[in-house]
Amino acid sequence: MTDKSNLKTDFQNITLWKRGGERAPHKPLLALYAIGRLRRNNDRLIPYAEIDQKLAELLKDFGPYRKTYNPQYPFWRLQKDGIWEVDKTESVSLTSSGDPKKPDLIRLDVHGGFPKEVFNALRSDDNLVNEVVAQILEDNFPSSIHEDILQATGIDLVSTGTGLKKRDPEFRDRILRAYEYRCAVCGFDVRLDHFPIALEAAHIKWHTAGGPDTEINGLALCTLHHKLFDRGAFTFADNLKIMVSDRAHGTRGFDEWLMKFHGRSVKAPQRKIYTPDNSFVKWHVKEVFRGEYRELQKAITATR
Ligand SMILES: [Zn+2]
Repeated sequence: MTDKSNLKTDFQNITLWKRGGERAPHKPLLALYAIGRLRRNNDRLIPYAEIDQKLAELLKDFGPYRKTYNPQYPFWRLQKDGIWEVDKTESVSLTSSGDPKKPDLIRLDVHGGFPKEVFNALRSDDNLVNEVVAQILEDNFPSSIHEDILQATGIDLVSTGTGLKKRDPEFRDRILRAYEYRCAVCGFDVRLDHFPIALEAAHIKWHTAGGPDTEINGLALCTLHHKLFDRGAFTFADNLKIMVSDRAHGTRGFDEWLMKFHGRSVKAPQRKIYTPDNSFVKWHVKEVFRGEYRELQKAITATR
């Protein structure tokens, strides 16, 4: 029998695979993909070829922007965390770093998945799934993108807030005050009576990656710009100029909500000491921002 709290700890511990501030959402995304799959499919073991394609898509959408994606690493390395097994391991030859080669995994039709007891526990206990999923999301991603990940992994549960970490409750107040209750990008400041609506305190370096709850790591952003920022549709250059990604595009809304601000300075906080710290901005560029900066020429045409 798998003890429920042990299983939760096992899932929690997979997130410990982190190097400095570098985001490594590979294993968490693989675990979420496999959980989403077990809720609609009876097969416990998943062909590597399927994971190669699906996990690469998830990494492209929710992982840091990289030139190549290597789903074979988490597929193989998750075995050590006690919540994953792979078949035909004897037939697979390994590189000097102890990892398999992608073509071998496909050619040999290697399968991987949760061990039987983990699989059965997750299939029979909705609450457990809820708790494990909420834990993985909380540990690895800002809440603004949790729903997107649930949809992408096909997990039909809402994150109910079980096991949510306590956040510094003052962070929001301090950040909104620092930016005088306005979105630092577009200036949005709609209130209902005296309550600001759809205005949020965003971390520049994610809380889940060790970003502190301080003014120099925060920005007041409207809900839309918060989401666009956390998904990497725009970031800031060193001089705190707003830079839109060449991967972001659209017709309606794109010029108005993104290109209009491309190359413009983010609104300054009310005190100079609250100015976003460059190290956090650099982290966002490296770990969250997608693609390359668009050219500045285009902004001038777009703002006409
Ligand atoms: Zn805004």
